[in-house]
Amino acid sequence: MEQEQTIPRIPVGISACLLGHKVRYDGGHKQSRYCLNVLSDCFDFVPFCPEVGIGLSTPREPIRLVGQADAPRVLGTKDPSLDVTEPLQAYADRVTEQNTHLCGYILMKGSPSCGMERVKVYHENGLPNEAGSGVYAARLMQNNPALPVEEEGRLNDPVLRENFITRVFVYYGWQKEVLPEPSLHRVIQFHSCHKYMLMAHSYEGYKQLGRYLAMEASEQPIEQVLDYYIRQLMAHLSHRASRKTHTNTLMHIMGYLKKEIDTQTKQDLLEAIEQYRTNKVHLAVPLALLKHYLKRYGSDYIRSQVYLDPYPHELGLRNYI
Ligand code: SF4
Repeated sequence: MEQEQTIPRIPVGISACLLGHKVRYDGGHKQSRYCLNVLSDCFDFVPFCPEVGIGLSTPREPIRLVGQADAPRVLGTKDPSLDVTEPLQAYADRVTEQNTHLCGYILMKGSPSCGMERVKVYHENGLPNEAGSGVYAARLMQNNPALPVEEEGRLNDPVLRENFITRVFVYYGWQKEVLPEPSLHRVIQFHSCHKYMLMAHSYEGYKQLGRYLAMEASEQPIEQVLDYYIRQLMAHLSHRASRKTHTNTLMHIMGYLKKEIDTQTKQDLLEAIEQYRTNKVHLAVPLALLKHYLKRYGSDYIRSQVYLDPYPHELGLRNYI
C-alpha cells in the first residue's frame, strides 16, 4: 500500500564514465544526469571502468570489436596487435565474483567494452559486420543472467525505465528476503507476493512458475530451485508490460473487492481502468483508486502484492506509463 516507505539504498553497478569519471579513451566522460540526480536517490552506484581496470591509460588509443559478431575480439583501431579481449573477460569475471551484492547494472551504450547490444563490429578488412555486444558486458551478463542490466540511453524510454527499476527492486527483494536463509517455503512466499507483478509482464510466465513451484520444485535440491526460479522470474519480468496486460492485472486485482464494494464504487473503478486502457490516463490513476479501496477492504494476501508498490512512489514512474 502507498505508505511512507524508507527509500532503500540499492547497490547497482554502473559504467564509471556515466557518473562523470573522466575515464574515456579521449579523457572525457559521459555523465548521465538522470543517474546522478534521480536514480542516485535510491541506487548506491558502484562504478567500474573495465578499460582502466585492465590497466589501459587515459587518454588511450581507441579500441573496437573485430571479427564474428557473436564472438568478436577487442583490438586497437590503430594497432590491431593490441588485443584486450581476454583481459576484459577476466575483469568481468572478477567484478562478478567480488560484487555478488549488486542488484542491477547500468551500461554505457555503443562501447566495445560496456555496450549491451548494437555495438559496431568490423570485419578484419575494416568493413562493418553485424552488430554485437561489448566484450565486458557480454561476459557480465553471461556470468549472472538474472542480474537486471540496462543501457543508460534506453532509460529515456518510460516503459523500459520502469521495467528496469522494477527488476532491480525485485532482485533486491530476492537478495534480502530469500537468499539469507533459503528454503522452498521462502521461495513460495516470495512468488506469492510477486504473482500479479509477473502476470502484468508475462501471463505465460505466471502460469509456468506457479506450475514449477507446485509440481517440480520439491523434488529438486534447493540450490537448483533458487537458480532456476530467479533466472526465470527475471527473464519473464524483462518482457515489457503493456496497457493490455496491466489492464488484465488490474481487473484481476479488482476481483478481490467485488463483494465488498457497492455498485457505484465498482463503476468508478471500472471507468478508471477503462480510461487507462484507452490511453486517457496513466497507470498511476486506476492504481491509486484501487489501492484506496484495497486499503479498506482488501485481504492481507492482495495487499501484500508487490505489483501495488514495486518501488518508492517518489520515483513517480507510473505517472509516465
Ligand atoms: S564505456 Fe566503459 S570502458 Fe568505456 S570509458 Fe565508460 S566505463 Fe570505461
